[in-house]
Amino acid sequence: MLDGSRGGAGPGVPMVSIRGLRKSYGGHLVLDDVDLEVGAAEVVVIAGPSGSGKSTLCRCINRLEVPDSGEVTIGGQPVPLEGRQLARIRAEVGMVFQQFNLFAHRTVLENVALGPVKVLRQRPAQARQRAQELLDRVGVGAQAAKYPAQLSGGQQQRVAIARSLAMDPKVMLFDEPTSALDPEMINEVLDVMKSLARDGMTMIVVTHEMGFARSAADRVVFMDAGRIVEQAPPEQFFSAPRSQRAQDFLSKIL
Ligand code: ADP
Ligand code: MG
Repeated sequence: MLDGSRGGAGPGVPMVSIRGLRKSYGGHLVLDDVDLEVGAAEVVVIAGPSGSGKSTLCRCINRLEVPDSGEVTIGGQPVPLEGRQLARIRAEVGMVFQQFNLFAHRTVLENVALGPVKVLRQRPAQARQRAQELLDRVGVGAQAAKYPAQLSGGQQQRVAIARSLAMDPKVMLFDEPTSALDPEMINEVLDVMKSLARDGMTMIVVTHEMGFARSAADRVVFMDAGRIVEQAPPEQFFSAPRSQRAQDFLSKIL
């Protein structure tokens, strides 16, 4: 049902490529020449202190934020500045935020089926069937007819994941998807993300959940002050971080 390796631009071409990305707000440099490549089916966790530019990086990948300079490609294709092409590429980049942002006046099933009907022009019956399958997959199939407010935070976030998956993304971005959840709901969301990772979805995940990074990430990218300071496989990053800044960060959160 999911194939994150689908739609790559061929062998050797990364699913996501970021080169020379810069972004400043009012003279304050927030992303300072960031380069990052993510391969098909790779899971990259982005860690780093608050304010280091993690969210801005995510938002620049699908142009929710316009970078000052630099280039982003998805599946080998440049993300265009505007227009229909931009809408198409955006649909290929699923995004899940701390806040679930579900439509309050639509049922759970409608929340998931709406995008495929409006943007991908799927037939409503087909979109609803797929929506139900995806809701089943993230463990909230029994809630399909309810409204978001009737669900727990963990359930709502899983609906938000299903809604992104319904667009058949080539890559999924998660920006602190469990930060707004009560502790007992964090694992049900992380478990869904782990199962996506196992199924080969290409994922970029900003999180402070280092247990998730250890068990699901292929690579940890550590950011500080708008730059990638170091990156390594999780076992190496956690046991022997090279930079003082990563050591300080880990000593605070572990
Ligand atoms: P992180 O996600 O790592 O906490 P952010 O990318 O949210 O970091 O923010 C990086 C820096 O950019 C912070 O100093 C933040 O205050 C600033 N910033 C983020 N978004 C805006 C904005 N829309 N306007 C002005 N400053 C911003
Ligand atoms: Mg952030």
